[in-house]
Amino acid sequence: MAQIRIENLRKEFGSFTAVQASTFTVEDGEFFMLLGPSGCGKTTTLRMMAGLELPTSGTIHIDGEEVAQKPASQRDIAFVFQMFALYPHMNVGKNISYPLRAQGVPKPEIQARVMEVAKILGIENILDKPVGGLSGGDRQRVALGRAIVRRPKAFFMDEPLGALDAGFREHMAEELRALHDRMGATTVYVTHDQLEAMQMGDKIVVMNHGVVEQFGVPQDIYDWPATLFVASFIGSPPMNVLRFEGSLAAGDRQLVLADARIDLPELREGLQGGLALGVRPENVLFDDTSAYRGRITATEYLGTTQIVTLATPHGEIKARLAASAPAKAGDTVGLRFDARKLTLFGTETGRALRSAGNEKVLAHG
Ligand code: ATP
Repeated sequence: MAQIRIENLRKEFGSFTAVQASTFTVEDGEFFMLLGPSGCGKTTTLRMMAGLELPTSGTIHIDGEEVAQKPASQRDIAFVFQMFALYPHMNVGKNISYPLRAQGVPKPEIQARVMEVAKILGIENILDKPVGGLSGGDRQRVALGRAIVRRPKAFFMDEPLGALDAGFREHMAEELRALHDRMGATTVYVTHDQLEAMQMGDKIVVMNHGVVEQFGVPQDIYDWPATLFVASFIGSPPMNVLRFEGSLAAGDRQLVLADARIDLPELREGLQGGLALGVRPENVLFDDTSAYRGRITATEYLGTTQIVTLATPHGEIKARLAASAPAKAGDTVGLRFDARKLTLFGTETGRALRSAGNEKVLAHG
């Protein structure tokens, strides 16, 4: 399997720049997610990595070899599309063996490799069946089988579960991840679904408007967003963002908001002007000793937790509390934010200020 290194990758379509100077590395054996909203450039990035689109500039190294100008057929990768086009006139076994037959691999080896793949996918018993009557899941397995059987260096998948309904999608997501682990494969996977990316990925690249906003492991991206875009795109509900005008300096450990003192992780850089305090809903705590007040406007019961919406001097925020915590619409409560988990942003650049909390994550990203 393979390491894939992307440096300053750029794609222009006429005067429109779909991908701007992307840089990241997919390590050997990783399940790697390209995540972002529709039109952010993730499919274009994947297609350039796969050799289906030529970059305008930049480099792509697969296992140390520069391949940016090479066609897909010379990259030894397998591309799994959203719509699985199986050959309807061939049975399951023939669909899976097709790439090997096209390469002229000897028959006994084809048989052995198809059996091996069928076992990995748990479809040995349907090899003789026509593909016409297969369930959605089996069709997906056959399509995957056809990709796996070539033993490519890496798998590239573009929203492969996009067409499936929610419950089945979750099941196939687990199956895909388990399959990846069994094979020790390198997989690059495009999705616009942040939950899917968090659940399945070893690493995530978050893109917006053709720009890599952040790159790292899911937990770091969730805990320490590098930009306001990542803060609001990841998490459900997303990170609360309290905007204010002010002045912060390196070394500061506190900030005054609406006459209340808010503890911060020690800042490593300062900024004057438009600022924002980012706090995840689970890090908003009720504390009557706090001078920062909010009025409860709604509660949403979720079983083990509840989402409480509050009106504050800095707009609406959401808190995630235990379902049993007392919270009644109309009540005014004191609010404290978990100081270890706060991020400050400059609103003009949209970038996070470095602090004792996030400096390691930002250095890697
Ligand atoms: P989606 O999930 O909607 O596919 P995406 O993040 O994968 O979104 P891309 O398909 O990479 O986005 O497209 C990025 C931008 O580039 C879009 O604005 C799209 O319209 C544009 N684009 C993609 N391919 C072409 C092309 N061949 N010619 C012109 N513009 C293109």
